[in-house]
Amino acid sequence: MKDTKYIFVTGGVTSSLGKGIIAASLGKLLQARGFRVTNQKLDPYINIDPGTLNPYEHGECYVTVDGHEADLDLGHYERFLNAPTHRANNITTGRIYQNVINKERRGDYLGKTVQIIPHITDEIKRNIKQLGSKGEYEFVITELGGTVGDIESLPYIEAVRQLKWELGNKCLIIHLTYVPYLAAAKELKTKPTQHSVKALQEQGVQADILVLRTEHNISMDIRKKVALFCNVEQSAVMQSIDVPTIYRVPMNMQLEKLDEVVLSKMGFDLAKTPDADMGKWISFVEKLENAKDEIRIGLVGKYTQLPDAYKSIIESLIHASAYNDHKLKLELILSDKITDENVAKKLGGLAGIIVAPGFGERGMEGKFSALRYARENNMPCLGICMGMQTMSIEFARNVLGYADANSTEIDDTTTHNIVDIMDEQKDVLNLGGSMRLGAYKCKLKKHSKAHEIYGKDHISERHRHRFEFNNEYKEEFEKAGMICSGMNDESNLVEIIELKSHKWFIGVQFHPEYSSTVVNPHPLFISFIQAAIQK
Ligand code: GLN
Repeated sequence: MKDTKYIFVTGGVTSSLGKGIIAASLGKLLQARGFRVTNQKLDPYINIDPGTLNPYEHGECYVTVDGHEADLDLGHYERFLNAPTHRANNITTGRIYQNVINKERRGDYLGKTVQIIPHITDEIKRNIKQLGSKGEYEFVITELGGTVGDIESLPYIEAVRQLKWELGNKCLIIHLTYVPYLAAAKELKTKPTQHSVKALQEQGVQADILVLRTEHNISMDIRKKVALFCNVEQSAVMQSIDVPTIYRVPMNMQLEKLDEVVLSKMGFDLAKTPDADMGKWISFVEKLENAKDEIRIGLVGKYTQLPDAYKSIIESLIHASAYNDHKLKLELILSDKITDENVAKKLGGLAGIIVAPGFGERGMEGKFSALRYARENNMPCLGICMGMQTMSIEFARNVLGYADANSTEIDDTTTHNIVDIMDEQKDVLNLGGSMRLGAYKCKLKKHSKAHEIYGKDHISERHRHRFEFNNEYKEEFEKAGMICSGMNDESNLVEIIELKSHKWFIGVQFHPEYSSTVVNPHPLFISFIQAAIQK
């Protein structure tokens, strides 16, 4: 639609300033004023998508409902805006080049020399405008990954320069920088910000709004100075100060008038624009901040050295704990280090555990020890994806008595392959590449715990895996008390298992963590925390 407004969020000085949080906070504030908003992330790396990136390097791989393996910032967007993102919300340099090269091979460029400008920049612009083209959104907020000055970001900044020229005040640039505090001099320093704004200017882009990340309050004098040096109005220089929870950021940015400044710069009459209704959001943040009782949960996984690898699970636990008026005390437990001998010591003081997703063999044995401990000690336990797969293997080994039970992913010589690639699954894989990705339907068994938790017969949840529960063992599992309470009927695949005679022991083949949001915490996490709270 021609009236869609495009806002860009760039970053300078250092990485990890929280551009995604600022972009999502602005999205939230505009949405709370009744606008239709979506957030987009442009990633400067050459991978086609983050699907093949090691979680240690890039944190979690997020998955959209339409099966796109995406940057974890899309998780922030969904948690903040309570609205799904899609494939078009995340583009990488790899994808841009792939599209351009495919066009070149098809002869679309009619013999022209294919160059960064205009062909790569045109493809970037097409991908940005695509989100606004259907009239679905009034604002498209696009976050540019990386830091100004990086070689990789140059084509993106150039595309933004061209768009600003084309779209005038329907386009706005927010630049996020860092203002360090020098303890010895007792001073906040703005020089890095000035240099960063200059680096943008050298590339032809003038920032409209500056957001200064800081650990200390930034005075009016400093703001005035930054405004003067950077060609930005003083009211458009704002701070984003460190906060104990990222969920405070939208409220702080509202105090800084980020939404007001954006709207007035883009030609809106503030007197005629509704105020932001942040009621539900604020009550969540207050619950989160005022909770006194702690709930100690263990997250058993193999990437625990980098909590970002489990971003969505951790945020889902935070949502559900706040919902239940508890403060989450999370312990990240490296599964490689758990053994039958030390498991009681490692898990003994916890109120519940999550057994995390993951690929490959490392850390599997520790997951079995943790699961056995939780199962035998009536400790609430949620197994997610590989967590559910290990849950079923542990059950087969220690309850059904199949000592060699395993997954064919780990051991393809076993005679008891509890987790396998199923024939039914092969059809799905042939259609969709090498993994079951994105949202699939699941039917819940009446009178099961899962049915009680969701309160409905049919659900849809997101997947990211190759292997499945082996249906050959379904009957035997159910006879022994492990119920298959969620099924994908179309492909006859087990989606949820639960132990009948246990306080709360549920494994899900899908990833509920991708769809927990601030105003809609996920029912499985809510119920898991409730069970953990009960003594
Ligand atoms: N390794 C498993 C599979 O591919 C699980 C993957 C996951 O936990 N996301 O089936």
